[in-house]
Amino acid sequence: MHVSLKTLGCRLNEAELETWAQAFQNAGHHITRDIEQAQLVIINSCAVTQDAARKSRHLIRRIHRDNPHAKLVVSGCYATLNEQEASALLGVDLVISNRDKNQLVETTLAQLNMAVMPQLSTDPGEISLFTRGRQRAFVKVQDGCRYRCTFCIVTVARGEEISRPIPLIVDEINALHQQGIDEVILTGVHLGGYGSEINTQLTELIQVILKETSIQRLRLGSLEPWELSDEFYTLFENPRLLPHLHLPLQSGSDAVLRRMARRCKTAEFASMVTRLRAISPQFNITTDIIVGFPGETQQEWQESYDFVQQMGFGHVHIFSYSPRAGTKAASLPNPVPEAIKKQRSRQLHDLASVMKQQFCQSQLGQTLPVLWEAYTEAYQDQRLTFGYTPNYLRVACVTAPDECLANHISYACLSKVTENYILTERLSLSQQ
Ligand code: SF4
Repeated sequence: MHVSLKTLGCRLNEAELETWAQAFQNAGHHITRDIEQAQLVIINSCAVTQDAARKSRHLIRRIHRDNPHAKLVVSGCYATLNEQEASALLGVDLVISNRDKNQLVETTLAQLNMAVMPQLSTDPGEISLFTRGRQRAFVKVQDGCRYRCTFCIVTVARGEEISRPIPLIVDEINALHQQGIDEVILTGVHLGGYGSEINTQLTELIQVILKETSIQRLRLGSLEPWELSDEFYTLFENPRLLPHLHLPLQSGSDAVLRRMARRCKTAEFASMVTRLRAISPQFNITTDIIVGFPGETQQEWQESYDFVQQMGFGHVHIFSYSPRAGTKAASLPNPVPEAIKKQRSRQLHDLASVMKQQFCQSQLGQTLPVLWEAYTEAYQDQRLTFGYTPNYLRVACVTAPDECLANHISYACLSKVTENYILTERLSLSQQ
């Protein structure tokens, strides 16, 4: 049977999709990107904003229109929070809530009567990550969150914290490495809380992965900026743990952070950033900011803007606040008018792009190992191949039309910042 998998939303959803793709393959099925060829389509939906929920509904409808004969299974946050609505959408055969998604493959095959005998071996060319065009893999290490940030629907949708045991994670990374993957990203809803209920912690997980796997590049997904031990910082002395952290700040105003019930205030955040930059000036720190949180005054907004500027982030994900039913923030007084939210968002986008350019400029002249990807673009009468540095800068190099660098790591010198990437000069093997 041909199975197609689609996702919307966070990296965690991506990680789950990859796990399911592997499981379908292990059960003898083929993964395809072509919806029209699929007999079964799995959609991992999202509901982080009203817009994400709308896009999830739209995707379900579109897939059913493109291939009305395929069985359709919907999981993820939109399907969990709106189970009845999702089941009633045309073409949906099965809704699997987040609670039950660990058994998604088994449940689907059993309930839709689609189980087939597993094949003894699978064709290496069909490894799901590559058929889905990926050069790096996401490994989900935990789910759920014990905190209750007032804007966050995720805790309602995902429930209590559950961590996967270290040996299972190590086995998964070793298997991915054997399939030719050189970089994995550890993800979780509350990654920093990893291990809290199984008597371990994130630091130990990383130490064991670095020791018991030989994966060349280990990256951390979004990490709440608290609960990080002194030992955590020392882990970055190992260059295999890549110098990039996405630390969601959410606001640079302490008063707003208090209303959001965040566990980290600006002074603590600033000292984390100082510590990380002391490890390496190449350390790339990226963040999320919500603009227009209820009651955000002009003064709070200005404080937030100034603090963000002071941090010099390499990238900022900007969200305009939108209330989500079921969260505490949805009932907070003094909503910020849409026009002001828009204006603040525009102002922050401008600042974010200046900071990004400045960070990129500061990295020129560095020679770094780049993991190249399959994506290419025409460039004058040659081609550009794209890839990422350890600190997650998107770079490009000129390649000959018949040259394929995909999934290779080689050294390149960062030479010129353009709007969307940094142009590099590749070093010859003798220079590396
Ligand atoms: S820590 Fe993160 S996942 Fe947990 S409630 Fe806050 S924003 Fe949501």
